[in-house]
Amino acid sequence: MSARVIIIGAGMAGVAAAIRLGQAGYEDLVIYEKADGLGGTWRDNTYPGVACDVPSHLYSYSFAPNPEWTHVFSPGAEIRSYLERVADDHGVTGRIVFGAEVTGLERRGNLWHLSTADGRSDQAAVVIGATGVLHQPAYPDIDGLGDFAGPVFHSARWDHGVNLDGARVGVIGTGSSAVQITGALVKRVGEYVLFQRTAQWILPVPNPPISEADRTRYRAEPGAMVALKDELAAQFTAGFADAVVDAESEAARHLEEICGAHLEASVADPGLRAKLLPPYRAACKRLVVSPDFYAAIQAPSARLVTAAIERVEPGGIRTADGVLHEVDVLVLATGFRVDRFLRPISVTGSGGLELDQVWAKRPSAYLSVSVPGFPNLFLLNGPNGPVGNFSLIDVAERQIDYILQLLGRLGDPEAAAVCARADAAERFEAERVEAAGRTIWVTGCRSWYLDDRGVPAAWPWTMQRFQEAMAEPALEDFEFETT
Ligand code: NAP
Repeated sequence: MSARVIIIGAGMAGVAAAIRLGQAGYEDLVIYEKADGLGGTWRDNTYPGVACDVPSHLYSYSFAPNPEWTHVFSPGAEIRSYLERVADDHGVTGRIVFGAEVTGLERRGNLWHLSTADGRSDQAAVVIGATGVLHQPAYPDIDGLGDFAGPVFHSARWDHGVNLDGARVGVIGTGSSAVQITGALVKRVGEYVLFQRTAQWILPVPNPPISEADRTRYRAEPGAMVALKDELAAQFTAGFADAVVDAESEAARHLEEICGAHLEASVADPGLRAKLLPPYRAACKRLVVSPDFYAAIQAPSARLVTAAIERVEPGGIRTADGVLHEVDVLVLATGFRVDRFLRPISVTGSGGLELDQVWAKRPSAYLSVSVPGFPNLFLLNGPNGPVGNFSLIDVAERQIDYILQLLGRLGDPEAAAVCARADAAERFEAERVEAAGRTIWVTGCRSWYLDDRGVPAAWPWTMQRFQEAMAEPALEDFEFETT
């Protein structure tokens, strides 16, 4: 096949796309990556304790099971090494242009014209955006943040040059990142102060090492890993992915019971327990998975502050009760701007249509992969997909196969283009918003799932429905044009 394909982003999804498209015969493909290494999330997040809360044998490419995982939930550095190894093994690394931040994408004639911050340009018939969801750090708007005298950094931009041993460290936030940081830091630092705006439910899942005997078995019998992956997928789907999209389900209630019992059993002091008790249902916010958070926050070095942050001062954080919490280092575990996707890339589609205008209120895409008016531009883990519900590797792989089917319908992508129809995208979005009203995410909390209207920006149906939707494109929902 002759058509050139550009992939933007060399994270988990971009690497998978390059491999699958290469296998399908798209040999002229290139990945543009703004950083100097691949791995996306697993390159950016290097904070102490970083790990994936999807079991490693599930968070693996279907075409590259990994007998070497060391833990049920392996550390971030191991995941990054895995992605690097898979990219090397499949000849992808050499196709990545590193240090090339894409700034512009414009459709002229039948090609996408790309430009980068360092002055490169390229063109291709097909572009796949694999720029990630939880990617652009959200910095809090707190008075005086710039006045802090010590080091201050975001959890996804960890400054490893700062020595934390014996230091007084303040961490703002209680999401998955902060909880993992807490477990890793309390024994290392002199004093650990966690600033909690909203309590989180914690699902206690142990993270034992995978034994050498099991790893030997997986090396000898890769089929055992496939069986394990299927088993983990079934458990994850029934116990979590399908539970969160049906607030009244037994599985959702079960999650609540486990989390409630965990808090009850783990925190003896009623005062602290009350502070840690979330005022909303479990999994309304993205459920935090941790076997050790409650033990960590009760460590002698740790302190939980629930008074509202008033401002940052050179010596620490002043809370609304007038107390100055003195710290030497400040970590902002304050999450990500989840509505960005391809942005800030300037994307201009057919007839001068600007993606930023189309997404001015909020981003959306038909089935999360195609935006009307932007032919032959596809998104992986785009708006309103099952982010946070399931293994994003599985999600991306299914989206890639779906895109490949669409491209297969084109024959020659240089002479034809495909894009979701506007009416199909509108219908999908209306159904999605309606179904979102039944999810656990709208049961009374603030979270990164919710868009500006308070509607969850996520896939609100079961994983089976997602798999069915991705199995084969409904061609009547697409416009095919000969260019
Ligand atoms: P997050 O879940 O969005 O949490 C951000 C935290 O910062 C929240 O506790 C939030 O408080 C707090 N915050 C934000 N602005 C604040 C302000 N101005 N003042 C005080 N507190 C403020 O971010 P995250 O922990 O980085 O996690 C994001 C997602 O990434 C997770 O939900 C998960 O899907 C994924 N993730 C997964 C793992 C894993 O696999 N284990 C690890 C890390 C991240 P409120 O709750 O009050 O808004």
